[in-house]
Amino acid sequence: MKHKLLYIPLLSVLFLAACNEEAKPEEVERNEQSAESEEPAEEIVEVDKQHENEEVDEPEDESEVVEQTPLYELNPVTFAIEPIDEANPKVVLLTIDDAPDKRALDMAKTLKRLEAPAIFFVNGHFIATDEKKAILKEIYDMGFIIGNHTNTHPNLKTLSEEEQREEIIAVNDIVEEVTGERPVFFRAPFGVNTDFSKALVHEEGMQLMNWSYGYDFEKEYMTKEKIAHIMVNTELLRNGSNLLMHDRDWTADAMEDIVNGLREKGYEIVDPKLIKGLDAQQTGE
Ligand SMILES: [Zn+2]
Repeated sequence: MKHKLLYIPLLSVLFLAACNEEAKPEEVERNEQSAESEEPAEEIVEVDKQHENEEVDEPEDESEVVEQTPLYELNPVTFAIEPIDEANPKVVLLTIDDAPDKRALDMAKTLKRLEAPAIFFVNGHFIATDEKKAILKEIYDMGFIIGNHTNTHPNLKTLSEEEQREEIIAVNDIVEEVTGERPVFFRAPFGVNTDFSKALVHEEGMQLMNWSYGYDFEKEYMTKEKIAHIMVNTELLRNGSNLLMHDRDWTADAMEDIVNGLREKGYEIVDPKLIKGLDAQQTGE
């Protein structure tokens, strides 16, 4: 209980930071890799086989969504992942926003190899072509959860209600067209929602999700080493932390170190399929 008091103010600071900063790296990244080579499907070689965690090397086997009793729920205020009953409280949730831009498939393959589940929050403008739809399908078929991060990544506060509706529903429609399932989790760009977007998300049977902490959009953490270190060693890491990452080069390069570092600290990477929400959509009205 004591910890909660500390947690909330820290969280608000991070929210503010994230809201202000999240847009920047996109520009940076665009400059870095302006070439629109959109064929990552072939470029990922089975990354280093010698790694110690690599024992099960089985191909995709999680393509079907198994109905499971939820073991966790999302705290609607802190967005932490909390055990419902006896589930292990020492878990973290991995999420990747602004996908699939350049490295999402690469990140998914790394996570799959490490058997680390995650949610990929996608933007409609990144899944407009057949090539990108195929990438989305591949990530989904690997067993990852696909979340809605709006069509064009606007600040929802600057839009009319009709525009907000379009931004949100369009993504659900494309994701359903590609995967057969509508997203269950929604994360607004910059973490900025409106009363209208909140109501719409609820009406659509989705859960609103922000995050506990994230750093890869801040200039000082835009290297593999820096982001790998802070994601595991931040004072904000605690049971149930909801980790915000992005489809960015430095984060993709650091993904394995982040997962291993969290596990070395005793955290289990929670399977988002065990979070209340997916089941609610399947059975609820
Ligand atoms: Zn974003």
